[in-house]
Amino acid sequence: MKRLLKVAAVVIVILIIGVGTVLAVTFMGRQPIVDGQEFGEIRIVEDGFTAVGVIAINDHQVALVDTGQDASGEVIKRELARRKLQPEAVAAVLVTHGHPDHIGALGQFPQAQIMALETEVPLVEGRAGAKGPVPRLFPVSPTGVTVDRVLHDGDVVMLDTFPVRVYAVPGHTAGSAAYLVNGALFIGDSADVASDGRLQGSPWIFSDSQSENRASLASLEQRLIGDGASVKVIIPSHSGTASGLAPLTTFARGNE
Ligand SMILES: [Zn+2]
Repeated sequence: MKRLLKVAAVVIVILIIGVGTVLAVTFMGRQPIVDGQEFGEIRIVEDGFTAVGVIAINDHQVALVDTGQDASGEVIKRELARRKLQPEAVAAVLVTHGHPDHIGALGQFPQAQIMALETEVPLVEGRAGAKGPVPRLFPVSPTGVTVDRVLHDGDVVMLDTFPVRVYAVPGHTAGSAAYLVNGALFIGDSADVASDGRLQGSPWIFSDSQSENRASLASLEQRLIGDGASVKVIIPSHSGTASGLAPLTTFARGNE
């Protein structure tokens, strides 16, 4: 019996080291998230290893891009308090995708209209599981969240006077979205900025399909050019930002 316990302990330690190594390799070599970084009306708030976008849509309301990993939404509420606002001031949440580290505090903002691409709604609401090698290990359970506004590729959503352009970028998850707001391209987990400033695609271990993700990013670049979009900054969820569209163009060309 004792011997069995010893073997079990060794197996558990090896598993922990293995998972730790995989996570370290996945997250190493990225530009760090810069908490409090601002681009016009947009401010980045760091919640653990996830960036949340806070968009001041007028002087008494904000919209969020994702709600981080912490279910209590503490850092978001602290940011609201800094602006002398209550949780009710969050008018909308643009969900990049339904992984738990992006929708943690979705239930904390009673007035927020929750928006996600139609193909992502089952994941956000917890009626379907994600298909990546790690996400598929987690049980499917209702998140208690209801998506209020179902988005479609190409939609333009008005947040007060701010137009938001919606792009479907399937791959990391089936309904991953990128949002272009006032020159800022929120790209979720579809890409990260590496420490050398280059974009890199989403890590395979957390993604439904890395190859689909890369194809989506290449087509996103073409569509942004076709739309005459002025991209001033690319904002990923788990790294620092990149300036202009050029890093995405370089990434897209690298796939040809
Ligand atoms: Zn993700």
